[in-house]
Amino acid sequence: MESTLDPSFFNQINLPAEATNDMSTSISQLKEDLAIANQILANEGVFDGFGHISVRHPDNPERFFIARSMAPASVTAQDIVECDLNGDVHDAQGRKSYLERFIHSAIFKKRPDVNSVVHSHSPAIIPFGVTGARLRPICHMSGFLGSNVPTFEIRNTLGESSDMLIRNQSIGESLADTLGQNTVALLRGHGNVVVANSIQLAVFRAYYTEGNAKLQAEAMRMSFSMGAGEPIYLSEDEARNSAETNAGQVERPWNVWKSKLPKL
Ligand code: MN
Repeated sequence: MESTLDPSFFNQINLPAEATNDMSTSISQLKEDLAIANQILANEGVFDGFGHISVRHPDNPERFFIARSMAPASVTAQDIVECDLNGDVHDAQGRKSYLERFIHSAIFKKRPDVNSVVHSHSPAIIPFGVTGARLRPICHMSGFLGSNVPTFEIRNTLGESSDMLIRNQSIGESLADTLGQNTVALLRGHGNVVVANSIQLAVFRAYYTEGNAKLQAEAMRMSFSMGAGEPIYLSEDEARNSAETNAGQVERPWNVWKSKLPKL
């Protein structure tokens, strides 16, 4: 069924002032939040030894912050480096950022509405990228998935012999084209990308994308074994309205996840 819902709706959702990275948010606070976000996503099982989250520079939209190449569970504010929208690292001081930082540079370049990008190998979503089963919002916490979660097929750009990684700006831009105006895109046989207009909302969406994949796979197993066909998904209105409501509540789970972090 063709969707009538403009996916950019999900990027225009208004957040409470404390959840946005407006000009009043200090750079040091933003780096601190980005470090906490890395630790939360690792602690909650979205990241493992891999995965990264970035945030756009609040004063210079041509730059973004991301950790140096390291395990996300150990990232602190001192580990954050600054990149430009071609993926070049600027305050490196001998530090290297992630090989796949081009995911972030290309999406920030194409999507001026996006302030934070998560890339993970979030395991439950992998089956959806390789079977053609569409990832769809199965519960109200994941209404932000909207009506279209596209899958990036790296073979369309690099053939069948790549190492599957987004290792330069050009392949990053192909991925950004596949993402389009949507909130989440899957990378076939690899992982996903999730975008939002704040670090807190990006963490929320990455967490509930993984949760939705688990719930949807279970609902599909039950429903098909009962001969009942497809499970019942959120309608476009239900998805839009629940996404809007939940976006105003991101501070609550953020604080819970933060309180569960082990001391570094
Ligand atoms: Mn990856």
